[in-house]
Amino acid sequence: MPTTTSIARLNLTGDALTPGAQRSWWLREALAAEVGSNCPPLTKDIDADVVIIGGGFTGLWTAYFLTQADLGLGIVVLEQDICGGGPSGRNGGFASGWWDELDSLIVLYGAEAAVRACRAISSSIDSIGAFCASHGLDAWYKKAGYLYAATAPEHLAVCEHMVGVARDVGAADELRELTAEEVRARCDSPSFRSGAFMRDGASLQPAHLVRGLRHVLQARGVAIHEGTPATRLEPGPPALAVTPRGTVRARHAVIAVNAWATGWRELRRRLVAWSSYIVLTAPAPERLEAIHWTGGELVSDLRTSVRYFRTTRDGRIAFGGGGGRALRRGSDHRRVGWTDRRVADAFAGVWQPRAQRPLRARVHRQRSGAVPPRRPRSGRPHHRRRQ
Ligand SMILES: Cc1cc2nc3c(=O)[nH]c(=O)nc-3n(C[C@H](O)[C@H](O)[C@H](O)COP(=O)(O)OP(=O)(O)OC[C@H]3O[C@@H](n4cnc5c(N)ncnc54)[C@H](O)[C@@H]3O)c2cc1C
Repeated sequence: MPTTTSIARLNLTGDALTPGAQRSWWLREALAAEVGSNCPPLTKDIDADVVIIGGGFTGLWTAYFLTQADLGLGIVVLEQDICGGGPSGRNGGFASGWWDELDSLIVLYGAEAAVRACRAISSSIDSIGAFCASHGLDAWYKKAGYLYAATAPEHLAVCEHMVGVARDVGAADELRELTAEEVRARCDSPSFRSGAFMRDGASLQPAHLVRGLRHVLQARGVAIHEGTPATRLEPGPPALAVTPRGTVRARHAVIAVNAWATGWRELRRRLVAWSSYIVLTAPAPERLEAIHWTGGELVSDLRTSVRYFRTTRDGRIAFGGGGGRALRRGSDHRRVGWTDRRVADAFAGVWQPRAQRPLRARVHRQRSGAVPPRRPRSGRPHHRRRQ
């Protein structure tokens, strides 16, 4: 299909980070359901114990755990857009385990620490479910596990290796091999061969989670100012966050600005902004039934730059893939069109995609090992990129 047709169909009219009609489907869905409480911009000079710059998951979970530790702390969150306006409100909604990353973790930290890290991630996935339950937040949390589907002959060895490493560290229950029939019983794509299954994997509606988190924080007395960019941060102490109409003077400052940090002089040389793109199909629950994909499993293939798939409550497929380095002007449209066409590839013959809304955003990768290099498995070194 020519790229131009695809782009026209996607209705991408501006930079995908532009607020408004270009917001992600997740976010528009969550905002429509929200019973509003405003987080007005900062308009005066204030003091606080902690100022957090950035209202995505990093900033808001930081605020949440600080309130867990001490409800009396004065916490201020500054968000230039709305909370969840960045990748936190437009990502794949995969909360997934790390057992597939064991080999690299072992190389870097040793087996014991690697297993400890994986167990910590396992418990954090459960904690998200517990958070939603305890706050009455319906963020579509569903723990149905994670299916790795081999789509090329060389992936079979990758699966075998992943499962073998888990077995060697005594975590055989966490990751097990699946035959081609078992894979297709869960998700019958003609491009899937055999695979592996990790029980640590939950899907959620990311925008509901991030907006719900914002709501919980407001109820706890955290001062959240949306529409408030920090234009300067003086480290102090005390730190001084400067915004267009007011300042926050605080004992501690937390920088939680994700890819925007590439615009901060002190940080830009330590970061690489990477992009990932998602498209959602129109709802077609009957097609999901036809391919037996009704269990809610997260799915990804095993390519170096993974392609990942999941379903939604109303029977869509959300499909994502790494798009390369971010910030190259004009690359969004092309990349989203590319991602859209990959849905057709992955579900050839069973799904004619009608993508509704691209959810593109920048993610960042640190230069120095935030995502550990994977051990070369097919004779060449590579990084496997998480979404
Ligand atoms: C398409 C896509 C799919 C992804 N899928 C997954 C997935 O399935 N599972 C997963 O775990 N991860 C996924 N990720 C990664 C995940 O979304 C991010 O790691 C996570 O959301 C980062 O959260 P954050 O709070 O650090 O950053 P962000 O969500 O980017 O939040 C940073 C916030 O800082 C604000 N900000 C920036 N500069 C300033 C300033 N000067 N003043 C005030 N505010 C400022 C921004 O407006 C933004 O709201 C995906 C990412 C993308 C792009």
